[in-house]
Amino acid sequence: MLEQQESQILVVFPHPDDEAFGVSGTLAQYANAGVPITYACLTLGEMGRNLGNPPFATRESLPEIRKKELQASCEAIGINDLRMMGLRDKTVEFEDDEKMVQMMTKLIDELNPSLVLTFYPNYAVHPDHEATCKAVVRAIRRMKEEDRPRLYCVAFANDTVENLGEPHLINDIRDVKEQKIGSMRAHASQTGWMMQEEEKRKEDGDTESHNWFTEEAIYIYDWNRDFEESF
Ligand SMILES: [Zn+2]
Repeated sequence: MLEQQESQILVVFPHPDDEAFGVSGTLAQYANAGVPITYACLTLGEMGRNLGNPPFATRESLPEIRKKELQASCEAIGINDLRMMGLRDKTVEFEDDEKMVQMMTKLIDELNPSLVLTFYPNYAVHPDHEATCKAVVRAIRRMKEEDRPRLYCVAFANDTVENLGEPHLINDIRDVKEQKIGSMRAHASQTGWMMQEEEKRKEDGDTESHNWFTEEAIYIYDWNRDFEESF
């Protein structure tokens, strides 16, 4: 469990299941400690190529299925306030920058979070991820320094450690492993293969737990190396 007492957490990711891999354990710990969590999920991931394996979704039914999966994931984690922001999957990067920043500013003004969680700009791999976290950083940058919430980021580009160093926080999540599994399992149309692999690994007697279920790595956003001034 991370040290700080938080009063309100705001999580911003573009796709249902973005919350599951990187931070669902950490969020579950905060939720269990009674911290209110708002998750602003920008799209429904409706353009996802995975329709389940074997397929159980069609292109038409996928948005509704992913909505239900997202709700189930939030329930497993203990997220009490889920906002589906209604942007279109795979098009977040084409949204107007200022409109995106305004969306984040509105959320921050309303919720006054002590901690915001998103991806790390330039280390988020997918264009939707990049557009999302850049809007979050831009919105927070506009605030007075002393009013800014803490900003925790998930980074998983190949050159992350090379450029940012080792993660600032390694959070032990073994006590909420079941909640993380619940979150990942909820996204069956996307993560079914992964959960199956995990089951198989267990059956094979592989007892060394996968990192996903033991710890989560978090970077604290470095305002001294702000992404728009770093080039
Ligand atoms: Zn994603």
